[in-house]
Amino acid sequence: MNNIFILRKDIDPWIKRMAEERTVFAPVHEGDAVVYRACDSGLRVELDTMPTTSPKEIVFPQNETLLTYTRGSGNEDGSVGVETTETLPSGKAVIFGTRPCGARGLLIFDQVYNNERIRDAYYAARRENTLTITIACNRPRPTCFCNSVGGAPDDSKGSDIMLYPLDDGFVAEALTSGGEELLALAPSSPAGEKAVKAKAKAGQAIETMGSPMDLSEVRKKFDLCFTDLAFWEKHSGKCLSCGICTYLCPTCYCFNITDEGSEEKGKRLRSWDNCMSFNFTAEASGHNPRSAKAMRLRNRIGHKFVYYPELHEDRLACCGCGRCITACPSSVDIRNIVKAVQEYSHE
Ligand code: SF4
Ligand code: SF4
Repeated sequence: MNNIFILRKDIDPWIKRMAEERTVFAPVHEGDAVVYRACDSGLRVELDTMPTTSPKEIVFPQNETLLTYTRGSGNEDGSVGVETTETLPSGKAVIFGTRPCGARGLLIFDQVYNNERIRDAYYAARRENTLTITIACNRPRPTCFCNSVGGAPDDSKGSDIMLYPLDDGFVAEALTSGGEELLALAPSSPAGEKAVKAKAKAGQAIETMGSPMDLSEVRKKFDLCFTDLAFWEKHSGKCLSCGICTYLCPTCYCFNITDEGSEEKGKRLRSWDNCMSFNFTAEASGHNPRSAKAMRLRNRIGHKFVYYPELHEDRLACCGCGRCITACPSSVDIRNIVKAVQEYSHE
């Protein structure tokens, strides 16, 4: 498809035009963090820093109401009915300014919540009405390892539009018909030779990342080290079970369901859950099959690098964004753990 060039100063007017029909979520500064916010009110959009939070919250919110309930009138047999009203999301959205790893995270979500076998109505309603505009990474961070998990700083999978940065603006390419419609709203000029220059720059970014990790033995070795609790205790020793790694992760999709309200009326909520917390697998009996941090970290690694790939055609449930590494208060580095699994040998 044709490439166009959008000046940096024209990004805001473009966002405003898109926002006439859709909610545009774009990265903005809030305190020390860069977070996605609905951008129709002149917020300054951050174009050069990878967002601290992941775009998953736009299609899978941290908290959402699934339904509301009210107590019905009594029946002749003495029973009392409950009336429920589903609160399916509506409205169109744009995720602006995700990085390629964030777009890949959405594809990992799709395998779980919106595919030919399973359709989570709430997730699907948002996802099918959301378009993704991705900025290629010219300067990957030291914690990025997308090149080890099947991605790249200029990977376009899962995006409707790719933006390739240059100093004064972005070369933009629409990859879907939805992307074409959005791009038609941008003040722009033909990209000409800038397209070659911008794409070459983005393509070269992978060379700054070092060699990809060898993960070829991880699945086999995970089976070997599964029962070696000392191995998992060593790697989870520093973990505080705070869960920030799961909350910021673009591919962590676990949730909990709670009801709020009274006997008369209330709502049913879905909220993100955190597999690193003690309560995650606590059973009503008091038994907890993952009572130790070592077991919980083992599960987190196993889920991303073994169990998910076994279910989903060898695709990993990690997009290599490095958020869990930069945000961990105890400097737990998932790359070191996966490398240790890969190199595991029984002594
Ligand atoms: S962010 Fe670090 S300390 Fe917190 S749960 Fe994850 S690994 Fe543990
Ligand atoms: S596990 Fe860490 S590096 Fe992998 S996708 Fe999640 S936050 Fe990113």
